[in-house]
Amino acid sequence: MAKKKPRPKTQLLRWSDYVPASDVTDPLGLGLRGSTRLASLLLYCITSITPRARYFSFLPWCIQNYQQHERDTKYALGLNEAIKLREKALTYGCVAHHDGQPCVGGALVGSTAAQKWLVRNNGEAQLKRVPFAKIPALNAYLNSLMNLGFFVEQESRDESEEEVAESELAFENIELSDLGAAIAGSYDSVVRKLGAVGRITEPERTCSVKSLAEFGKRGGLCELAEPSAPDRSLLRDVFFARKGITDKSHFRRNRSLLLILELCRQLSAEGWNTNDFTFGSAVYYGQLYEEGESLQVSIPAPLLDVATRWRMFYFHHYLGVALEGMFSWLVTQLSDRGVTGASLTELSHELHSPLVSKEIGELIHGHVPKNFGGTTPAAFFLALGIPESDLTVEASLKIDEKITAEIAGAEVWLEGIIREGTYRQSPAGLGNACVLFALTLARYRRWKDTEYGNWLASDAVVKDPYLDLLPSTVSLALSRTRKDWWRRPWTELAQYVLSRFVVQQHQSMAFEKTAAGDRCLLERDGERITSDSTFDKIGLGNPRLGSAIQILTDLALLAENDDGIKHVTNDGLDVLKVELKREVEA
Ligand SMILES: [Zn+2]
Repeated sequence: MAKKKPRPKTQLLRWSDYVPASDVTDPLGLGLRGSTRLASLLLYCITSITPRARYFSFLPWCIQNYQQHERDTKYALGLNEAIKLREKALTYGCVAHHDGQPCVGGALVGSTAAQKWLVRNNGEAQLKRVPFAKIPALNAYLNSLMNLGFFVEQESRDESEEEVAESELAFENIELSDLGAAIAGSYDSVVRKLGAVGRITEPERTCSVKSLAEFGKRGGLCELAEPSAPDRSLLRDVFFARKGITDKSHFRRNRSLLLILELCRQLSAEGWNTNDFTFGSAVYYGQLYEEGESLQVSIPAPLLDVATRWRMFYFHHYLGVALEGMFSWLVTQLSDRGVTGASLTELSHELHSPLVSKEIGELIHGHVPKNFGGTTPAAFFLALGIPESDLTVEASLKIDEKITAEIAGAEVWLEGIIREGTYRQSPAGLGNACVLFALTLARYRRWKDTEYGNWLASDAVVKDPYLDLLPSTVSLALSRTRKDWWRRPWTELAQYVLSRFVVQQHQSMAFEKTAAGDRCLLERDGERITSDSTFDKIGLGNPRLGSAIQILTDLALLAENDDGIKHVTNDGLDVLKVELKREVEA
């Protein structure tokens, strides 16, 4: 049976005529400065905007085809325009091949424009004139192609989840490396004899829709999964770091892809799907739980290291949900108070309200002392079976033992509550976010002084120890300024966290960013803070995971059965078997 995320599909928005919905994203910099960097170290070259494997052979082919058949002619376009023209041909070809529909699993860039055009036209397409997307796929895939070593003498490029700007595409004389040329060549062998491909390089650049459909049928995104696609095995070698650059981050991508395959193997055997929710739960808890059913997963020894790094990723994710949850609660509360606003002392003292202990008690199905704000995290977690003590490694291990995925009050559970936004108008909203904050850091405690904690604090991840909020930097700040926070009242913790990690952080981020849409949602006048906004886009998620799953599907290592459950194909099982034996990173 299909397992769904226990999260609401739609988030409740609080609309009113005087509160504008906010267009601010990443208000605390937790995405850009945290999860994006971690994901880039774990799934290098597979970004959220590069989900289709075949673009990795098609785009090098565009360059090769241009250089071999067009560059020296008198009607030659510039390289950028030439690539765009070929992209158009493939997009129109795929939509035509799929009878007017975009590709399943992620449409080609420009598919919407092509769909509209093809409804009304089916004769000849003048490729120079037919409508297309504003930003071609090249801009999204270029950094990854470079970092995979498809070009000669390219320095590595910073990975981001945004397309490279037009101005960065000045690369008229770019040269494919041997690897890039081999991949382009393998794609060429499927399409070189097609009518449309010949017409692309002729001055008129006009193809019949029929010939474009043939191009889509041979060279399309979905067709890479066919055993006859000659670029398929080469692309498998590239993504699994068996060809081209094979060390460091490339080897780590290999491990992450294997981890996805291995988990998918275990999950699908019991009817569970592999997605952000189940993957996260598997690496974070070693367990899945939903609607009364649970599944223990076991991570094979060669994948323990990468699985633990993904666990660190989700520590950051839950910390992010807690902090963004507090931010969301804060702006809602301030908006409700209008021009008077409130001080952080007043706001954190709301945790004394009997409503907080009542609502949180109901949520965790446990007894919470009447005055929640006056008790401490150490005392609170007694209700979830954690003996009251200092925050030691032992206490942290106890949390792993007791607060598993199925416990009401576990991180995955609190995340659902916070994202739902039900408690944004209640002081319990602050309470829930504080509990998630404390639980995440307490569970993280045992990793703090290990190789993995060090990785999370290393300069590959933390560029600015003050502004980059991660479990590592936040723990450190707490141990310096609020050493015994675990045994101090919740109100003190709330006030400090709101002040340092929410208000100050948001002000710094709003000041740092310049792009349109980023602005400060808080106004500060001495102690008093006001706001006239809302914020509800809580949670960082794992957007690269979706791309990785799609790429594994494109490479025919994963497939979906009739119930929509992903499973590992026979080829995928072979890859798992061979790669698990491969020597660990040198
Ligand atoms: Zn397709």
